[in-house]
Amino acid sequence: MSNKHRHLLKGIEKADSVTWNPHKIMGILLQCSCFLTKHEGVLYECNRMSAGYVFQPDKCYDSLYDVGDKTIQCGRHVDVFKLWLSWKARGDAGFTEHVDKCIALAQYMYKKLQETKGFKIVYEEPQFTNVCFWYIPSWLEKLAHDKEKQNHLLGKLAPAIKEEMVRRGTLMMTYVPLDRNVNFFRMVISNPAAERADIDFAIELIGSIGDQIELSALSNGF
Ligand SMILES: *Cc1c(COP(=O)(O)O)cnc(C)c1O
Repeated sequence: MSNKHRHLLKGIEKADSVTWNPHKIMGILLQCSCFLTKHEGVLYECNRMSAGYVFQPDKCYDSLYDVGDKTIQCGRHVDVFKLWLSWKARGDAGFTEHVDKCIALAQYMYKKLQETKGFKIVYEEPQFTNVCFWYIPSWLEKLAHDKEKQNHLLGKLAPAIKEEMVRRGTLMMTYVPLDRNVNFFRMVISNPAAERADIDFAIELIGSIGDQIELSALSNGF
């Protein structure tokens, strides 16, 4: 969708098949997942039930486009219709603009986190529109002499900050423990209405809640 970032998919033409979830960054309502294959007819060969009382091939149009007998399911939503409608409404240009904007916002956030005291990036360079980070308030920074305790508390901090944000009704952001890292926040930018001001808001909110959390509230077990 983006000329600017198409290099991220370099080599995709070598893949035999590709899955793509337009219900992610493209903002199509759940669910909308595409399975793209180079092998015309393979889905029909794999999945067809060829129930003669449902599917007739002798139609006034090319029945190649009928999906009913190509999927494991039969009587289900035609989820791709939502993608088609959205594409018609927004056009190639609209999709391009959206993807470029989300990636630009992720880069903005990444840069801002690097410049803001207390924030630490998990992975160098944002991967697509995922920005992964910890917030380490000064009260936690002070425990640097006890790495084990500091890490333990850091892993509890993201869920505690998230809980407070949910209670206040201000922001939803996921946290993840991954690759032996304790819970970090994972911001995924896909909302077409998001602006730089929303990123600033998120960073400030997480910082201020993190600063206010009581050490004793996280210290169970230590
Ligand atoms: C969306 C998502 C999934 C789930 O994929 P679906 O095909 O939408 O069910 C798994 N992992 C990550 C990191 C995701 O963002």
